[in-house]
Amino acid sequence: MTAIRPLVAGNWKMNGLTAQLAELQALQDRLAGHPVEADVLICPPATLLAQARWASRGSEIALGGQDCHPLQSGAHTGDISAEILKDAGATAVIVGHSERRTDHGETDAVVRAKAEAAHRAGLIAIICVGETEQERRDGKTLDIVKRQLRGSVPAESSATNTVIAYEPVWAIGSGLTPTPEDVAEVHGFIRAELVQLLGAREAGRLRILYGGSVKPANAKELLSVKDVNGALVGGASLKAGDFDEILSVYRGGKAA
Ligand code: PEP
Repeated sequence: MTAIRPLVAGNWKMNGLTAQLAELQALQDRLAGHPVEADVLICPPATLLAQARWASRGSEIALGGQDCHPLQSGAHTGDISAEILKDAGATAVIVGHSERRTDHGETDAVVRAKAEAAHRAGLIAIICVGETEQERRDGKTLDIVKRQLRGSVPAESSATNTVIAYEPVWAIGSGLTPTPEDVAEVHGFIRAELVQLLGAREAGRLRILYGGSVKPANAKELLSVKDVNGALVGGASLKAGDFDEILSVYRGGKAA
């Protein structure tokens, strides 16, 4: 398999007044002094995208959205399209985050339509999958992930327009994480499923991120697991210092 360039994405969720842009500036300063061998993406609230684009100009930090509507434009009050995100400076968008699946009842079909919209707009779709605590207890983790992948990943997905984020729902924001062995099992399974869905060539190059309570203290262990090609980070992406410490895993080729 060719080496896969990792991606570390920060999801600020519904956090971020204008003052939060100072963290983006601080992250930019740290990266300028100490570059990393990974792509770095920050997904702020959509209201901050245009200012964030300005604040991060000339840096290696890319910007993304946290969700998009399946359609390009129209009468959908309060929604945002992939095209609008792109126009505001995004190069990627998260779709199917468990908070969207739960809070807004998004089905796999809706998530797939959103990923297709992202692709049409020229954005990378970061498609999230992952089991709940009950599903893991019931031994259904791989079944759930399989169903979500089959239902949410568009047929024309490629390694350049799609990223998969494995995020066990019970690990998000809880401080709990799966063991490295469990992460390896699910990521290996996702890779094998992607071979079935997209063929060996794309599956072998496509990035599979781990997400769920990634912190400076556990980043090295989690990101060194086979088939983990980076992280999707929530809480720890809000502080430049914490996020930069996570990114340090990719300074000087420390991770696998
Ligand atoms: C997330 O919600 O995508 C996430 C990984 O959150 P946290 O890092 O806070 O668990």
